[in-house]
Amino acid sequence: MGLLDGKVALVTGGSRGIGAAIVRRFAEQGANVAFTYRSSAEQANALAAELEQLGVTAKAYQSDASDYEAAENLAKEVLEAFGQVDILVNNAGITKDTLMLRMTEAHWDDVIQTNLKSIFNLTKHLIRPMMKNRGGSIINMSSIVGMTGNAGQANYAASKAGIIGFTKSIAKEMGSRNIRCNAIAPGFIETDMTESLDEKVREGYLQNIPMNRLGKAEEVADVCVFLGSDLSTYLSGQVISVCGALNT
Ligand code: NAP
Repeated sequence: MGLLDGKVALVTGGSRGIGAAIVRRFAEQGANVAFTYRSSAEQANALAAELEQLGVTAKAYQSDASDYEAAENLAKEVLEAFGQVDILVNNAGITKDTLMLRMTEAHWDDVIQTNLKSIFNLTKHLIRPMMKNRGGSIINMSSIVGMTGNAGQANYAASKAGIIGFTKSIAKEMGSRNIRCNAIAPGFIETDMTESLDEKVREGYLQNIPMNRLGKAEEVADVCVFLGSDLSTYLSGQVISVCGALNT
């Protein structure tokens, strides 16, 4: 028996990195999974095919998380295909790192639209179906830099801090409807996003991580399984750092 048997999950940005690990773990635990990607169609469709081998339903959707109308259409399509959504993971995110002196309006807007507005977009379109379904679990992917700030990431840190405020507000608004809303704040996790870091910057980060290594996408995904499952039915409005004790 899986921890997520009979549940339906929708994960944004599921084609690579942390999102792909979440999609895999969810399917391994018995969930039927819909997930989105922006441009990696080949990877996304291969992942969906791999997951179907586990005996669950898995489907990849190309959908830009930053686009309100696209989110509305996606929610409709997924509800038609899967019947319900029990777990929503707002994971899609990007970085456009640069110091404030060089940051353009486009750097700011792209990151805020993709990382923060995206979370409003899908929550907005799935909250009513969750209410009808008498419950749900929303998991928003923040970052420890949303709590600590980081030089060169004012746009990204602002988006991730915004996610925390949004998460706590939704938890308070929707608690009486049995809809839980939590955020995960990863530290430095090995994915394409951190692969592009300069070697010196990477070494600098490593020296500050008490567990002495970067995290794995699967280690974030395991926390999503917990938050999506009935092991966390009284847990809402919280931010869980998954960071090897970097942010304590
Ligand atoms: P990643 O490896 O770069 O993967 C990003 C995923 O998001 C991809 O599936 C990508 O789709 C998708 N995506 C990007 N923009 C999108 C859009 N507009 N619409 C739909 N999908 C979109 O990133 P990651 O490291 O796994 O990060 C996942 C989340 O964790 C992000 O929110 C990130 O901020 C957060 N996080 C990561 C770290 C870390 O150390 N890696 C730390 C803290 C927080 P395509 O494949 O189609 O491009």
